[in-house]
Amino acid sequence: MSQLTEHIDSFLNAEKVRQLFPVLGQKVNGKELIYFDNAATTQKPQNVIDAISDYYAQYNANIHRGLHSLAEKATAAYENTRKTIREFIQANEVEEVIFTSGTTESINLVASAFGRKFINPGDEVIISELEHHSNIVPWQMICEEKGADLKAIPVDEKGDLDIHAFRNLLSENTKIVAINHVSNSLGTINPVKNIIEIAHQAGAVVLLDGAQASAHIDIDVKDLNCDFYAFSAHKLFGPTGVGVLYGKRDLLESMSPYQGGGEMIKEVSLEKTTYADLPYKFEAGTPNIADVVAFDEAIRFVKSLGKKENILGYERSLLDFATELLKQIPGLKIIGEANEKIGVVSFIVEGLHHFDIGMMLDAKGIAVRTGHHCTQPLMQSFGIDGTVRASFSIYNTLDEVSIFVESLKEIVEKWR
Ligand code: PMP
Repeated sequence: MSQLTEHIDSFLNAEKVRQLFPVLGQKVNGKELIYFDNAATTQKPQNVIDAISDYYAQYNANIHRGLHSLAEKATAAYENTRKTIREFIQANEVEEVIFTSGTTESINLVASAFGRKFINPGDEVIISELEHHSNIVPWQMICEEKGADLKAIPVDEKGDLDIHAFRNLLSENTKIVAINHVSNSLGTINPVKNIIEIAHQAGAVVLLDGAQASAHIDIDVKDLNCDFYAFSAHKLFGPTGVGVLYGKRDLLESMSPYQGGGEMIKEVSLEKTTYADLPYKFEAGTPNIADVVAFDEAIRFVKSLGKKENILGYERSLLDFATELLKQIPGLKIIGEANEKIGVVSFIVEGLHHFDIGMMLDAKGIAVRTGHHCTQPLMQSFGIDGTVRASFSIYNTLDEVSIFVESLKEIVEKWR
């Protein structure tokens, strides 16, 4: 225990980091809030909150079209975030960074625009059993529309993808492989570099759903050699309603627009429209300017924490501590014990419903997620309908983990 504490202190001072997050200083149901629902959304530091109100209070204006000073300032701030994101994910060019409303829209954009152009009857799309519904349903929709087949890589009992089965699923008809970088339900970090290499050898392109990876793992799209990468600001200490789609330039250029409207055109006549260059071709309408601007502050915050491997190391320490303690609770079973995990622990308790556990923890001020976590096929593969999920972030502490496990023990002893 003391070793763990030292380990953690050497990486990060969570108590100090917490001070930057106003929401964490409150009581919920009369108890100090313990927020363990970070995989659903992270909390926001004060600099992100301030950036949103500064934009509205000082330079609210529509971007790109206006020539006046406020419009210029707003445009510069919006485009500055694009530069920050390019660097954050190591993309070659800012034109490869498209702002969306979130991971969900980024995936829908690719399923729709790539799918309409490149997926034909008899083609195949490969996803996995680990996917969030956001990386299942858009592919089902386009496969149904195009008469293509959707296949899924199976997951083993530890929560790892079966790479051997993946090789067997691939064929010359496989057009795209869409896989999450990290599983939201189990925390599994997938061997995405390997998956990308195998898919490319078969001639398929690869989309990575990075919703759960971006806050914990360095994203280097060039090194990964992925064709598309999707993530959301709100899981990365930024605002809701903003996300990113990275795409390789040649692929993005070969795809038709996803939505039509203002901003995405060069010239419109009633007969014909020519489209704007990247990235604007995929950014129809007035975007979420305030939140894109504030996203820059979120990245600034993440960078201030130092190396991502230290962030993940810290969260893994919390996970290891929690896992060890949880395993001592009678009737508790952990779902998903892959070797490579982020700080996410999912579990069920024999004789107790996950919803009831969640509600009783909430009464003690502890926020966890319960249910299927938008991964119903994954739950089905484990023969369950949901879990309790605790997901850790850099502002969580060992003390919080201890209180959580003690509270859970009390609940289990009383009700099971
Ligand atoms: N994929 C994964 C793995 C996720 O965890 C989530 C969010 N829970 C999404 C996609 C969807 O993200 P958003 O709701 O921000 O679009």
